[in-house]
Amino acid sequence: MTNQIPQQASIYNNFKWSWDPKAKFFFEKQNALVWEQVNHNPITFLETLSIPETSIEFESLPELARNWEKGNVAYVCMEYGIHESFPNYSGGLGVLAGDHLKAASDLSLPLTAFGMLYKHGYFCQIINENNKQIAEPTHFDPNALPMKLVLKDGEPHIFSIPFFDRSLFFQVWKMDVGSVPIYLFDTDIAQNLPEDRGITDSLYGGDHLHRLKQEILLGFGTVSVSKELGLKFDTYHLNEGHASFTTLALWDDEIKKGLSKAEAENKVKNSVVFTTHTMVPAGHDVFGKDQIANGLSKFILESSLNFDDIYSKGVYDLGYGNGFNMTVLGLNFARVANGVSKVNVKALHNMWGNFLETHNLSLIPITNGIHPQTFLSEGIYSLLKKYTDFSKTNDLREASPWDASKIPDNELWETHCLEKINLIKNNKTRIRAHLGKKVNLKNFIINGTLIDPTILTIGFARRFATYKRATLIFHDEERILDLLTNPEKPVQVIFSGKPHPRDEEGKKFLKKILDYASNPSFQGRVAFIADYDMGVARKLISGVDVWLNTPRVPREASGTSGMKAAINGVLNASTFDGWWPEAYNGKNGWVIGKYDPSLPPEEQDIRDVESFYHIMEKEIIPTFYTRDKNGIPVKWVNMMKESIKTVGPHFNSHRMVMEYSKLYFPR
Ligand SMILES: *Cc1c(COP(=O)(O)O)cnc(C)c1O
Repeated sequence: MTNQIPQQASIYNNFKWSWDPKAKFFFEKQNALVWEQVNHNPITFLETLSIPETSIEFESLPELARNWEKGNVAYVCMEYGIHESFPNYSGGLGVLAGDHLKAASDLSLPLTAFGMLYKHGYFCQIINENNKQIAEPTHFDPNALPMKLVLKDGEPHIFSIPFFDRSLFFQVWKMDVGSVPIYLFDTDIAQNLPEDRGITDSLYGGDHLHRLKQEILLGFGTVSVSKELGLKFDTYHLNEGHASFTTLALWDDEIKKGLSKAEAENKVKNSVVFTTHTMVPAGHDVFGKDQIANGLSKFILESSLNFDDIYSKGVYDLGYGNGFNMTVLGLNFARVANGVSKVNVKALHNMWGNFLETHNLSLIPITNGIHPQTFLSEGIYSLLKKYTDFSKTNDLREASPWDASKIPDNELWETHCLEKINLIKNNKTRIRAHLGKKVNLKNFIINGTLIDPTILTIGFARRFATYKRATLIFHDEERILDLLTNPEKPVQVIFSGKPHPRDEEGKKFLKKILDYASNPSFQGRVAFIADYDMGVARKLISGVDVWLNTPRVPREASGTSGMKAAINGVLNASTFDGWWPEAYNGKNGWVIGKYDPSLPPEEQDIRDVESFYHIMEKEIIPTFYTRDKNGIPVKWVNMMKESIKTVGPHFNSHRMVMEYSKLYFPR
C-alpha cells in the first residue's frame, strides 16, 4: 500500500488546496464578502460565484518525498482540524492532528487516519446582547467538502461493531489530505436504533456515557474498517486516550488468529505508539466499572477475553477519579509513549512516575510542531521565498529557509503592517457578512470596529480553558486601563476563543472580557472576535504584534498557537510553559513571571500579572514605539527576524513527524 501524491489536487476531491500556497489565498482575493458568507467553504464559494475550478492556480512545493519501506501506520484521533470549512475539531489537539497528516503527506509517509464525522461538528459560538455565549450546532454538508462515502457494490458500505448488548452500524466517509486518506465514521443511518444514530452528532457534546459510546466506536471502528477494507498496519498511533479502545479490538483479533492471550497482548504491544497531551486531570477520560461492563458486554460475549482481563488494563489510581482510565489503557498497550514537550514530559513523569516504572515505560518528549505552509501568511511566505531558499529546499528542518536576517528591515516591517491591516479589514468583512441587520452599537464595538492598525496590538486566542487564564491581564483594572488608553503609546487587545458549553468558569471568563470590550472607558481597545476557528487563527497569528500566552505553569502540555505566531514574526510574550522554554533565547520574545511551585495558585497569578505589566511598560511598549527616521522600529524588527529564524526550523510538523517516524519504525 503506497500512497500516491496527487499531481494536481482538485478542491473537489482533496484538501491539498488548504495548504497549497497559491490556492489557499485564492478565494478571499476573488471575493472577500462571499468567502465569509459561505463560511470559507471553497466548493460552495465556486458554485455561488460560478467560477470554474480551472481558474485556481496551484503552486506545487518541492518534493519532500523520502523512501519509506518499513510499513504502514494507522493514526487514530477523536478530532481533526484540517481547515475551518470542516468543523471537526475543538482546539489544539485537532489542529495538531491535521498538521500531522499534512506533514505526513508532504513527506509521503505511508499513514492512514481514522476518526469520526460529527454531523454538527464542534459548536458555533454566538454572543448575545447580555455578553453571553450561545452554543449553536454548526451546519455543514459533507457533500460540499472533498469527501466521499465508501461504497460496496455501488451502495454505502455498512460496517458494524459489537456495542453494549447490540451491534452498532456505521457508514464511512473517505477524505484525502494530500496523499493521506482519512476514514470518518458516521452512525446516522437507518440500520441503527434511533438513539444510536446520534452517536456521531457532535464533538465533545453530550454526557459521559455519550463520550464512552463515541470512544467505543472510534477504537473498535478503526479495527473493523481496516479489516473489511483489507488495510494492514504495522503501527497504530493512538493520539490521546480517546483512541485507546483500539487496543482491545486488536488484542481480540490476534487471539482469534490463534495466539494465546499473552502472546496476543505482546503482539499488540509491539505495534502501539501512544501520545498523551495533557496534565489536566479533566483531560483524561475515566469510566465506571458498570459503564465498561455494559459498553463492552457484546464484545466480551463474542471474544475470548473476559471482563477482568479487560478491566485490569485500565485501572490505576492516580489520585483523581477511580475507574477505567483511557490513558492507562493506552499506556498499558504502548510499545512506546510520548508527551508533547520537554516540560510536559517532566511533569508527566512526576504524575505517572510509579506507573511508568512498574511498566518499564518511559515517556519520550516529542515537542509539537505546526504545519508551515498552512500557517504562514501570504506576505511572510513571499518574503521567505524572495530572500531565502524556502521554496527551493526540501527540508524545512534546515536553518536556511528560515533565515529572516536576509530580509531588509523596511520590507519586513511593511509586510507585517499590511498583514495587520488585512486582519482588521477581514474582521470588518466578517462582521458585515454575519451580523446582517442585527447590529447594535455595543456589539459593533465589541467586535473590534475601533481597532486601529497603527496601535500596538496584542492577540490572545485559544480555547477558554481556565488554566489558560484569558482574563489574567485585567487583574488590576486601573493599571490595564492606563496601559490601553495611554494617548501617546496606546495598546489594544484582540481576544477570540470558545469556552466549552459546560465549562461555567470558562464562560465567566468570556463574559468578563466582553464586559470590558463593551465598557466605554476602554475606548474600544479590547475586542472580541466571535466563533474562533482556524480561519480566525490564521489571521490573528499573523496580524497582531504580540502573541500573549498565560497558562498557569506547568499546565500547558505544549501549546502551538505561539509557534504559528512566531514564524510570522509575531512576538511571543508567554509564561515559561509548554514549548516556550525550548524556544526562548532572550532575543525572540518575552517570558512572563517565574514559576514557584511553593506558591498557592492565586499568589502565582498575582506575580505573573505583575510581571506582565512590568514587561509591557519597560520593554514591549517602548520597543514597539521607538522608531528610526523612516518610522521603522528597528529593534522590534530584529526581534521579529530572530523569532522566525529560531522557531521555524524546529517547531514545524515536518520535524515532528520525522521524530514520530523513529517511533513508528524502530530499527
Ligand atoms: C493552533 C490552534 C489552537 C491551539 O492553540 P493553543 O494556544 O496552543 O491552545 C487552537 N485552536 C485553533 C483554531 C488553532 O488554530
